[in-house]
Amino acid sequence: MQLRYTQPYEATLRQMRDSLLAQLREQRGGTVGRAEVAADRFSNAMDDRAQFTTEHDLDIALGEREAQELHDIDDALERIRLGRFGICTDCGAVIALARLQLSPYASRCLACQRKHEFGHEH
Ligand SMILES: [Zn+2]
Repeated sequence: MQLRYTQPYEATLRQMRDSLLAQLREQRGGTVGRAEVAADRFSNAMDDRAQFTTEHDLDIALGEREAQELHDIDDALERIRLGRFGICTDCGAVIALARLQLSPYASRCLACQRKHEFGHEH
């Protein structure tokens, strides 16, 4: 079971990823340096699966929230690649299209997301 039309979501996710990186660049007034390098390495790494070390670099280089968002986006892109996009990672249910349109990087259905957030509230 998988979504057949993932291209629009993939395009949206790539756009979100780009604007997130652009935003980070702006925030840091062109002194991104490391984050930028890590992000570029990361996007190259997407193709050869060597993404774990660069992911670690990114967590260090970026703010926690941005890193999490970028991580979520990259996870979603990875799920598209694996043909698992739109499937709840917790219960395997198909995630509602309305939910995916609002947050294309959602990895859980609403019910599981609520449970998850409830359990991990800071
Ligand atoms: Zn679920």
